[in-house]
Amino acid sequence: MLSKSNPYLREANLIGGKWVPADSGKTIDVTNPATGLKLGTVPKSGAAETRRAVEAAHVAFQTFRKTTALERSKLLRKLADALMDNQQALAELLTMEQGKSLTEAKGEVASSAAYVQWFAEEARRTYGDVVPSPWADRRILVTREPVGVIAAITPWNFPSSMLARKIGPAIAAGCTAVVKPASQTPYSGLAWGALAEEVGIPAGVVNVVTGSAAEIGDELTANPLVKKITFTGSTEVGKVLMAKAAGTVKKVSMELGGNAPFLVFDDADLDRAVEGAITAKYRNSGQTCVCTNRFFVQAGIYDKFVEKLAAASNRLKVGPGLDDGVQQGPLIDDKAVEKVEELIADATTKGGKVVAGGKRHSLGGSFFEPTVISGAKPQMRFMKEEIFGPVAPVFRFDTEAEAVALANDTEYGLACYFYTGDLGRAFRVMEGLKYGMVGVNEGLITTPEAPFGGVKESGLGREGGHQGIEDYLDTKYVCIGGLGL
Ligand code: NAP
Repeated sequence: MLSKSNPYLREANLIGGKWVPADSGKTIDVTNPATGLKLGTVPKSGAAETRRAVEAAHVAFQTFRKTTALERSKLLRKLADALMDNQQALAELLTMEQGKSLTEAKGEVASSAAYVQWFAEEARRTYGDVVPSPWADRRILVTREPVGVIAAITPWNFPSSMLARKIGPAIAAGCTAVVKPASQTPYSGLAWGALAEEVGIPAGVVNVVTGSAAEIGDELTANPLVKKITFTGSTEVGKVLMAKAAGTVKKVSMELGGNAPFLVFDDADLDRAVEGAITAKYRNSGQTCVCTNRFFVQAGIYDKFVEKLAAASNRLKVGPGLDDGVQQGPLIDDKAVEKVEELIADATTKGGKVVAGGKRHSLGGSFFEPTVISGAKPQMRFMKEEIFGPVAPVFRFDTEAEAVALANDTEYGLACYFYTGDLGRAFRVMEGLKYGMVGVNEGLITTPEAPFGGVKESGLGREGGHQGIEDYLDTKYVCIGGLGL
């Protein structure tokens, strides 16, 4: 069980400043993926609780929208400080429910704080315009206003930081929020409610509801008081939410699936490429939307790259996230392990060769060995499907044009990476890749200062950067006439 002394552990919904159970009294069990044991429970809420949360957010919006940018900026700075002051407790909660190593969990909490800090700064920069008027006696103003109540739905792989990128800009803009965290990792989501209370964010500004995804999602997408849906998760669910949100023409921001390619050219710094490959592949046990799904390596260095990647993969320490020195925790559940096993079986029957790992880890449960597969081919399933696990398929290519075409041969367009020592090639390839984010000689590129997001079926909108607050604001044009000038 989870230590009940963790100051951020909450096992109730936060609605309008009150911690409440589901109306039915029903709960959902939360388990620790490292042990398979139950940690505790959270409410199994549905449409009625969600409606009340939306109404509470709507009431809170009437006053919160009138706060000054400076006031909201101060609240967000306090929130960022609270995250860092309690980094250890929040990271422990995260590791217990999600499985990632404590080092990564602390990194995620720090990333949450960095996003909140960034939006504390951006809150004060939502400038409008005064536009030169075509009329002598009229003036044109363009102002920015908070959209209103926003609904945020988030996944289990980054249960803290995915909410930082939504709650941060919402508060910065003067919006209020109803949040639905993933059912497998609800505690880090509920912790945002506790933190918001602690730093004095007014009741009703941040509401958190856990429970049935379909019922909560249906209410959030249908309720006319909700003006915007921001979602991070699978492309499949994103499409459903977009279709439902169309009924009331809500704004939508979608951070969806990825199929990141990682290209290594003959002229690359090989050791740097292998180091970047390890980070871009195995972070969070391969369970991130920006994790490399496909390695494409040029023929001249293919064998050397595979050998070095396999050796580095074999050195990774796998274990329960709370143990010292662990670099890779368990996968989220057994279903995830089964998917990884299926993809490996598909590859080996089509000629792929397992050169590192390849099977469940001797630790049992949902632990899996870091795996490298050489001889990957386009007809293998991971050419098109998100692996979401610690498997690195390595494809061989001959020409730059072939590599770019292979990399782009997917409906996804989130992150991509490539390694080269040639400046001209760096620009050609960077401009040829149809992705929202490109790492050139870098395997880890996420930072609050930059716009995170995808093209094609990887999503709409951007989180972070000065763009990250845009979707939380409406633009208003004001024409002032009769000035007699
Ligand atoms: P998921 O199955 O789409 O679930 C994400 C969230 O949506 C969860 O809170 C889930 O609730 C909820 N949900 C599921 N069905 C719903 C419905 N019909 N209506 C409303 N909400 C619904 O995704 P996941 O497996 O948790 O996360 C992995 C996916 O997220 C991957 O595809 C990954 O690439 C993507 N991702 C993208 C980004 C990005 O920034 N682009 C970042 C991280 C992850 P329950 O938990 O209650 O089912």
